[in-house]
Parts: sequence; C-alpha cells; structure tokens
Amino acid sequence: MVQFSKRVPADGTDAVGAILAAAADPSVISFAGGLPAPELFPVAEMKKAVDTVFDEHGREAMQYGASRGVTELRELITKRVKEREGIDSKVENVMVTTGSEQVLDLVGKAFIDEGDEVLVEDPTYLCALDVYRSYGAKFVSVPQDDQGLRVDALEEALKNHPKAKLLYTVSNFQNPTGKTMPVDRRKKVAELAAKYDVMVLEDNPYGDIRFEGEHVPAIKAFDTTDHVLYMSTFSKILAPGFRLGWVLGDPKVIDKLTVLKQSTDLHTDQLAQWAVVEFFAQNDINKHVDQISALYGKRKDLMIEGMKKYFPEGVKYTNPEGGMFLWVKVPGVTDTVELFKKCLKEKVAFVPGDPFFAGKPEPGTFRLNYSNMQEDKIEEGLKRLGKALSDAVNE
Ligand code: PMP
Repeated sequence: MVQFSKRVPADGTDAVGAILAAAADPSVISFAGGLPAPELFPVAEMKKAVDTVFDEHGREAMQYGASRGVTELRELITKRVKEREGIDSKVENVMVTTGSEQVLDLVGKAFIDEGDEVLVEDPTYLCALDVYRSYGAKFVSVPQDDQGLRVDALEEALKNHPKAKLLYTVSNFQNPTGKTMPVDRRKKVAELAAKYDVMVLEDNPYGDIRFEGEHVPAIKAFDTTDHVLYMSTFSKILAPGFRLGWVLGDPKVIDKLTVLKQSTDLHTDQLAQWAVVEFFAQNDINKHVDQISALYGKRKDLMIEGMKKYFPEGVKYTNPEGGMFLWVKVPGVTDTVELFKKCLKEKVAFVPGDPFFAGKPEPGTFRLNYSNMQEDKIEEGLKRLGKALSDAVNE
C-alpha cells in the first residue's frame, strides 16, 4: 500500500482542478482561469534580452547560483519597491524565489507547526489556504467588507487568538474578490501587527496592474517594527512562465527562508533572473505595465457593461480598479457547485466561491477572470451566464 504523509490531499479534494478541466471544453466560454493575456508578453524584447545575457553573462547564467538570487535582480527589486511602494530596503532584505508561490510555501515551512493558527481574510487566495493547510494550520477567518479586510474584526481576532502566528493578506485587487484595502486600514494592520506581535505576510502580485483610481502604498511601507513580510512577483507584469517572485523583510527572517529554500531547489533559475535584469535595462517596464493595465481595464469595463445588461436583478458584483478578477454574489443560491453545473450546460464557466473560504463558504459566490478573455467573447459569455443565473434565481 502506498503510505502518503498527512500533508498529501485526499483523493477527490482537487475541486478546482476538476472545474478547470470541465471548463477546458473549447465550446465553453470560461471565466474560470487566472492567466495574464499572452498577447502582451514582450516576446521579441525578451528574446533580445536573453541574447544579451548569453553574450555577456552566459557562463554565470548557466552555472549554479546563490540561493538568495542574482544580486543585480535583488538591487532592481529594492529600487522598484522604493519607487512604487515607498518601501525602504537593502539587498539583504530580499530573496528571489521560484514564483511567489514558493514564498507561500517557505513561509509555511518557517512558521507553521501542526495546529498553529493563521489569520486570513475570508475569502482568500485558495493556494495559500492549501499550502498552510498542508503544514497543519488552523485558520482564523477574518471577514471583509467592500474595502477588504475589516481591521476591527482583525483586532478582535488578535485578542481572541493571542498565539496566532501569521496574518496572510492580499492587499491590492485581491484574488478572488478584486478588493483593495485603503491606506488607513494598511496603517492599522501594521500597527496591530506590532501591538499583538504577529507576523503579516503581505502578498501583492497585482498592485502594479491598476487601471483606475490612486495607487495605495504597501502595508510594508508602514511597518517600523519588522512585522511585515512583503512578497510579489514578475508573473503579472512580465511572464508567469519565468517563475520569478521575491520576498522582502527582516534579514533575520530572510536568512531562515534562504536556508529552507536551499533544501527545496538550491536557487531560482539563473537564466530567468538574468533575462529580467537585462529586460529592465533595455526596456521601459512602466510603459509595458501601462499597456497591460489599459487592456485589462478595457476588459473589466466590458464585464461591468455585460453584467449590467444580462445579470438578473439583485446579483451583486465588485468593480475592481485593477488586477485580473471580480467577485459575484447571487442571492438565494444555496449550492454554488450546482449553479456551476447549470452554467456549464449553458457553456459558460467560473470558479465557485467555496474553495476560497477558510471559514464557512458564502453560498452563491463565484470568481470571474477577465485578463485572459478576448473582448469579443465577453458579451456572449455574460449573456450565457445571465441566462443561467436568471434560471437559477427563478427556480
Ligand atoms: N499570490 C496570489 C494572490 C496569486 O493570485 C498568485 C498567482 N495566481 C500567486 C501568489 C503566485 O504567483 P506566482 O507564483 O506566479 O508568482
């Protein structure tokens, strides 16, 4: 008999995998995925950057490298987070990782023992839930309102769970809801982290992709006591296939994460790191990010128009100012997976809300992706979805 560890998920628990597989039928218009728009990948520019890397750093790029990452890339990250987020840091604060997904895992390894409490805003990024669950975390669910994590509820939770080890939060254009935490709440989160001595993991993959409104600095920018670990990625502004993310924080913590990374993969892909360094040297990344934001903004506007036109009355949805996702709530629905099946019959798909919740799932909720949805499909997709939702609401 194969004897797996307790960490291995039980058979039949990969609900999202099953949903994505069902939605992969080409006749289905699927808002279920979560991919960036590949038509904006800067393929020619990246080819040129990689050529330069082979010409100028070929042997370094092909050799084993440091677990912390390529120094030039870490320097670039410290400069960029200062410019964009107001975060002061030095290279020793930064470790490059194999996707920011690896940060979630390393932080789990570093902080979570079986039974430790992890605070999460509910709903939240489901892979983070999977990772912390695999380390035996017990979740403390903190509710959100229209502006994301409720800091009054967070303080209550911190009082009631004094031993909680970690708060995980996606501060900008959250996956799955598209919500963004305003600046006063960010200051409060930093303050509460210091007051209750809890580590915050601030996950910011989407912050650069803003198409409306004003930029809000990171929680990390208000952290004067080294209670915040900040993580981000090149996946949404350049290319997810490169698998390049990073974590920034107190060097004492970064040192430990580095040791843990060594036993995972020794170091992050050298060629990818050098390619990004060279791409930044040869191109205006902000111009590229503006193009991505403009396209996603256009797609989001079409989504809002289509939902207004086709969704039955009473259906609520978020209207994000950036990022790749929005969140829908259909009143009166008790079984979201059943709703998904009905929609699939109409040849349209989404990700049901249930797996995004650490606590009790809110029925009738689901996530829609628009970043990878061609404009000409959006209206037809929402028409089908509107029909399925109307049928479900009128049942
Ligand atoms: N955090 C969040 C909230 C995400 O949505 C994602 C990607 N979907 C990640 C982390 C991981 O991204 P990557 O590993 O590509 O950096």
